[in-house]
Amino acid sequence: MEQSRSSDAYFDELFPPDAELVRVNEAIKAAGMPEISVAPGYGRLLTMLVKVSGASKALEIGALGGYSGICLARGLPESGKLVSLELRADYAAVAEANVCAAGYGALTEYRIGDAIRSLADLAGEGATFDFFFIDADKENYPNYLEACIRLANPGAIIAADNTLLRGRTLDPAKQGPSVLAVREFNRRIANDPRLLGVHLPSYDGLAIARVSG
Ligand code: SAH
Ligand code: MG
Repeated sequence: MEQSRSSDAYFDELFPPDAELVRVNEAIKAAGMPEISVAPGYGRLLTMLVKVSGASKALEIGALGGYSGICLARGLPESGKLVSLELRADYAAVAEANVCAAGYGALTEYRIGDAIRSLADLAGEGATFDFFFIDADKENYPNYLEACIRLANPGAIIAADNTLLRGRTLDPAKQGPSVLAVREFNRRIANDPRLLGVHLPSYDGLAIARVSG
C-alpha cells in the first residue's frame, strides 16, 4: 500500500532541513496558494541535473511560489539565466520575492500569462535553452514538450513533474483531459526518436529526457 510514500519519506528525512525551501513553502501556505511545490528529492535532483549538465540557460513552465525556481537557479552558474513562465501575476510576485530572497533575483526573469503564448514569444525572439522544467497545467504537457524541443539546444534536458497524477495516470477509469494528455506525454517521453527518456516513479512521478544533438 503506502510503500512509495513511506520510502519517499524515509529518504527525505535523511537530509538536513533546507531552511530556505521550508520558508518558501510556508510563504505559499500563508498566501493561501496551493501547496504543490515539487517534492524535496526532485528539487534536489533538478539542482543536480542542471549542475551536471552544465546548463546555463533554464526555462521553467509553472512558477507557483518559486520553490523549483530556486532549485533550478542553485544549479546554474553565476552568469546563468532562468526564465520562469507563470499564468498568475500574484503567484509570480510571490515566486519572485522568494527567488530574490534566496539570492537569485538577478538571474531570473518572470513572464506572466499563458505559457503557450510565452513559449511562442520566446521562439519568435530566437531564444534557446539548455534545461527545461515542465510543471504547469497538465492538459498542455504534450504541447509544452513540443515547444521545449523547439527551443532546445542540442543535448538539452527536459524534466517534467507529476507524471503519475496521484495515481490517476494508472487508473483506466480516469479518462479526463489532463489524464489523457499526461498519458500521451509519458508515451512520447518513452518513444519520441528525438529524445532519450526516463521515467522516475517516486513521489508523483518525474520524467527526464535528453534532446538529441
Ligand atoms: N514548479 C512549481 C510548482 C508549479 S504549480 C514548484 O515546484 O515550485 C503549477 C503552476 O502552473 C501554478 O502556479 C499555476 O498558476 C501555473 N499555471 C497553470 N496553468 C498555466 C498556464 N497555462 N501557463 C502558465 N502557468 C500556468
Ligand atoms: Mg508539480
